[in-house]
Amino acid sequence: MSAATTPNTLGTYDVVIVGAGSAGCVLANRLSANPRVSVLLLEAGRDFAPGKEPSTLLDSYPRSYGQREFFWNDLHAQVRAGEAPRPFEQARVIGGGSSVMGMAALRGLPADYDDWARAGASGWSWRDVLPYFLRIERDLDYAGPLHGSDGPVTIRRHLAAQWPPFSAAAAAALRQRGFADVDDMNGDFRDGIAAMPMSNLPDRRVSAATAYLDARVRARPNLRIVSSAQVGRVLIDERNVTGVELTVDGVSHEVATRRVIVAAGAIHSPALLMRSGVGDACALRMLGIEVQADLPGVGRNLLNHPMVSVATHLKRSARQPAALRPGFSNCLRYSSELANCPSGDMFMALLNKTSWHALGSAMGGVGVSVYKSFSQGSVTLESAAPQASPKVAFNLLSDERDRVRLRNGLRFALDILADPVVSAHLNGACVPTQGKLIRALNQPTFVNAVKARVLSASLDSHRALRKRAIAYIGIDAALLRSDDALLDAVSFERAVPVGHVAGTCRLGAADDRFAVVDAHCRVHGVGGLSVVDASIMPTIVTGNTNIPVIMLAEKAADQMTASPDSFQSSNIRRTTRVEPHLFHS
Ligand SMILES: Cc1cc2nc3c(=O)[nH]c(=O)nc-3n(C[C@H](O)[C@H](O)[C@H](O)COP(=O)(O)OP(=O)(O)OC[C@H]3O[C@@H](n4cnc5c(N)ncnc54)[C@H](O)[C@@H]3O)c2cc1C
Repeated sequence: MSAATTPNTLGTYDVVIVGAGSAGCVLANRLSANPRVSVLLLEAGRDFAPGKEPSTLLDSYPRSYGQREFFWNDLHAQVRAGEAPRPFEQARVIGGGSSVMGMAALRGLPADYDDWARAGASGWSWRDVLPYFLRIERDLDYAGPLHGSDGPVTIRRHLAAQWPPFSAAAAAALRQRGFADVDDMNGDFRDGIAAMPMSNLPDRRVSAATAYLDARVRARPNLRIVSSAQVGRVLIDERNVTGVELTVDGVSHEVATRRVIVAAGAIHSPALLMRSGVGDACALRMLGIEVQADLPGVGRNLLNHPMVSVATHLKRSARQPAALRPGFSNCLRYSSELANCPSGDMFMALLNKTSWHALGSAMGGVGVSVYKSFSQGSVTLESAAPQASPKVAFNLLSDERDRVRLRNGLRFALDILADPVVSAHLNGACVPTQGKLIRALNQPTFVNAVKARVLSASLDSHRALRKRAIAYIGIDAALLRSDDALLDAVSFERAVPVGHVAGTCRLGAADDRFAVVDAHCRVHGVGGLSVVDASIMPTIVTGNTNIPVIMLAEKAADQMTASPDSFQSSNIRRTTRVEPHLFHS
């Protein structure tokens, strides 16, 4: 191993991992387990040593939401065709999305992975990926062949007896409509009401950083983590990786390496590949970027789950006890039964609390999402400059099936809220339209805490004020329920893309023109370059994406350590010397 530092170089490493997010933390841990492999992990955001994480990151209620210091603040996305781009949140901090996300810990459905395998991702069927789902988890509630008990990521649930009043009432209304209780959403894949699996402990988040980069792993002499390190380009010479260019706190550096794993997430990974000359050749030439590999699939197939939410003002008796930190306890998986849509394609999250402050404890909500969505967007570059943000367009709800299912989903949510079993717990409900105001109040400051307390107390004691406030922050649920045209428009206009971005460097065979990586996550046509993160998903999983990303990083790490050829692209002549000892422990 050689990691000597000279001015403006961070040295030479066997492997450089770009991005310490959900995937990057797993890879850094697993690859550096072999003391003969030197690993450099580069993260654009801040690092926090174990035990020094701020409470806004650690809280098992995601107080991380909207915290500018943990996000890419220049990033914007066009949600629907023709709209102006608006801010879109992607994590920029150690642990990436796993450090800021809501902590729902779903695996997706077995059919998702069988579809991947059928689409050319050989070796990624449910049967193939299940061992990695087992490896990552320490499930506190379930054991047996579908669960792991000693992995780094703790998974737990609030058992039905703990569900707070609004969540429990919604479950009762769903039962009346014929939905069954499903004990274990990660092992029983039928439709039904279930406790939400969460990757946390009662009082703290379990992120990829806390799970995979603990003090023991960080103490390995062959692992170096550099934060505030933004990689501008992967250096490629004659179709082989030679290093990376980056800035650390604004100062330029280079690192020499023959192996780069890009794990910068589904927005920034394709952008980095394109800046490095890997992408659609015509588009790259137009920006003056020298083409290293013509891969038109880079940045295409941007996938996400569209969601629409209804906010509810809860009667005092329906609020959850302060000791129960997470905002959700239970959820519903159901089938739209729309033609050409698979079963279990819809998801309803029930929230008994929607922010950290007093008003947030008085507000519940229902979030309905299309979890097997078909609309596709893109990530492209407008400039070759390393610091320039990529151009993101979601085309949300552009597939008619997504639009119809979300509209029907919103109607279903409104029906549940109008059920007497549920409405008995509510003072009112609306589809919020004042997102900016709500986000501003979300910032965890002393002033906001005071404002929220005063607001909450006023709403509790003045019925007329409450009515006016609900009318001000959104569109009244009862009105929406009675007007089909309005419901149709609102379900389209108020739908948002969530944090589950995927698909922009998808897995697939070499003869698939739009595939970017092969089944071993190696970029087609470039030696020594791999992509391992949410971008490699060929289709979006029917579940939240963090646990599937951790799974796929575990599998990729396993493949890399098992085979000395694991970084050698499958469709170029082999010119890079690969030292076999490096990846055999
Ligand atoms: C607000 C929010 C809520 C979410 N809620 C949930 C949830 O409840 N449950 C769930 O399962 N999933 C959730 N997700 C999704 C989940 O967090 C992601 O799917 C997952 O973290 C993606 O992992 P990744 O490794 O692909 O990318 P990330 O975790 O995003 O990691 C990419 C990392 O690369 C770094 N990076 C990017 N470019 C560069 C560069 N050029 N140089 C150096 N570093 C770079 C980034 O700063 C980032 O840290 C949520 C996401 C968000 C944003």
